Amino acid sequence: MPLSERARAISLSVTLALDARAKALADQGRDIINMSVGEPDFPAPKVVREDASRRVLSGDVRYTPAAGTKALRKAIGEQVGSLRGIGAYAPEEVTVCHSTKHALSGAMLTLVDPGDEVLLFLPAWVSYVEIVRIAGGVPVSVPSRADCGPDFDAIERAITPRTKAVLLNSPSNPTGYVWTHDEVRRLAALCEKRNLWILSDEIYRRLVYEGEPNLSPASISPAIRARTVVLDGASKSLAMTGYRIGFAAAPREVAGGIERLHSHLTGAPNTVSQEGYLAALTGQEPPEIAEMCAEFDRRRRWLVSALEDMGLTVPWPRGAFYAFPDVRAYLDERGTRGFCEDVLEKENLALVPGTAFGVDTHVRLSYALSLDAIQKAAARLRNFLEKHPRRAAALAGARR
Ligand code: GLU
Repeated sequence: MPLSERARAISLSVTLALDARAKALADQGRDIINMSVGEPDFPAPKVVREDASRRVLSGDVRYTPAAGTKALRKAIGEQVGSLRGIGAYAPEEVTVCHSTKHALSGAMLTLVDPGDEVLLFLPAWVSYVEIVRIAGGVPVSVPSRADCGPDFDAIERAITPRTKAVLLNSPSNPTGYVWTHDEVRRLAALCEKRNLWILSDEIYRRLVYEGEPNLSPASISPAIRARTVVLDGASKSLAMTGYRIGFAAAPREVAGGIERLHSHLTGAPNTVSQEGYLAALTGQEPPEIAEMCAEFDRRRRWLVSALEDMGLTVPWPRGAFYAFPDVRAYLDERGTRGFCEDVLEKENLALVPGTAFGVDTHVRLSYALSLDAIQKAAARLRNFLEKHPRRAAALAGARR
């Protein structure tokens, strides 16, 4: 009996599959350094762990409303408003979800009809294409500039009468590119002119290490806020990956649509995780967060300069925790997938091929692991490149 067309068309998340493979190889005794998955190596802040544990120990772990507890929706709404320099979102404008990816898929199912087109800016995180398809939409990939910033000519060319939404991800996974305020404003103006939704995945919002902070399109004006769905969560900025908790903040009818969907699909977000998230959002930001960001920044600087030192070109990552070097000079007919297979096989180093993000020229390294591990990983990559049959040609090309 065949599976549904939908199930047959979906592939397993490459990042999660690679992470599982790296862990399985490590379990077999191989000395693997895993730079595949993007997962902070820090524990969740103490206050989160304490409040979540207290909830478990109380025995009072019951269903909550489908959109999350009122207290958490209120805290998120206030935080979204204050961090983005706008008025608070009402609790009815916030739907708590199991993760940001869950919030995004809920928003997609709420806004997109079969055949509607959704613009994605390449390179784009692995799950975007699949989430658009699951909703019956058509993902339309738009190439970016060489520095990974937006190419507005390409964006304008990609818009058709069927375009329903754009999916903005700043800071970007996999490039770390942070859209400038001008670029966000320009995109927002275009969306206003062409009557498009803006799905703004801001999961790396807190992780910007230099220059202007990230600008949410929702901050630009009430009219733009009314066409923006802010998607964010606790996984990256609060190192709460395993808690699986995120949210959508959006106009009431969108938040309500996501709530109705999730009331059938998942019932309600995890009660323990909601308690932990609430603890992190109440009062001052937990002090561990600034420490974590400072450490990511230190690793970022070290890693990018090590990659450049190997002769690789790296789009400068102002945010998130990824470096995305250009390795095209080293590729054979198997592309970045083959490159990553060889690095894993020969050097026990797990990276993510650019094909997972729609570009077969770069590879992604997550620097959400200790500086010591990053330094060992860099030595392995250097060794791999130095022994590579295309090394001399690659270096000659880089010098030209
Ligand atoms: N978002 C992270 C990554 O890109 C976690 C894995 C996933 O959900 O893709 O590595």
